[in-house]
Order: sequence, then structure tokens, then C-alpha cells
Amino acid sequence: MDCIFCKIAKGEMSAEVVFEDGDVKVFTDIHPKAPVHLLVIPKRHIESIAHLEANHNDVIAKLIYTAKHIAAEKKLKGYKLVFNVGREGGQVVDHLHLHLLGGWQSGAERSSQV
Ligand code: AMP
Ligand code: ZN
Repeated sequence: MDCIFCKIAKGEMSAEVVFEDGDVKVFTDIHPKAPVHLLVIPKRHIESIAHLEANHNDVIAKLIYTAKHIAAEKKLKGYKLVFNVGREGGQVVDHLHLHLLGGWQSGAERSSQV
């Protein structure tokens, strides 16, 4: 399967990795839309939120918990967690990923677009 995030998950494609364990990997988005823009991915291939099944609940919980942990480590005061779903929802890479966006100095500086 030709999936760039599977390749990053396996270490076959380079990325600026900030955290990794057996289930998830966190790396810097190459086109950052915020001062801090990270992607949290499961290592297993799931296409999108639209492809979730009941037995994936632990995967989603792990993505969100990991994002919270990394946000705290980076001392982000506030942040956004975003899943784009489907082309109309802005999803370009068909491997589930959670955007972690933050690092703004104030709400006024924050852009609403992801
Ligand atoms: P989405 O639009 O939700 O599918 O988000 C995909 C994100 O992946 C975009 O913000 C891209 O900038 C980012 N991206 C694509 N390829 C790479 C890559 N090789 N390394 C890091 N980020 C990537
Ligand atoms: Zn994949």
C-alpha cells in the first residue's frame, strides 16, 4: 500500500518525530498552520474517522491522550485538536491523523483555518 503516513510510521520516510511508542507517532507537519503544528497518527492504517469501527475506540482515545500529553510537555496554554474527514472536510492524506495546533500568544493571533 502506498501510504505516506504508514511509511512515516514504519520509519521508511523521514519526519521530525517528537514522540513515538508502540501504537502512535507524533511528528511536525511539513506545512505548519500554527506556531506549533503536530500530527498524531496511529501506527496501524485506518483511513479516516469515517472508517472507524467500534473496536477502534482505544485508538481514538490513545490519539487524544497522546495529544494532551505532548501539549502539556510543550507547555501549550491552549490548543486545537482537529480531524479533517473526507475531501470535502479537507482531508488530503488518507491515513487517520489528529492535528495538534497551538503556540499562539493570544486568541487574536489565532487563525481559524486548518
Ligand atoms: P489533512 O489535510 O487533514 O489530510 O492533513 C494532512 C497534513 O499532512 C497536511 O497538513 C500536510 O501539510 C501534512 N503532510 C503531508 N505530507 C507530510 C509529510 N511527509 N510530513 C509531515 N507532514 C505532512
Ligand atoms: Zn497508512
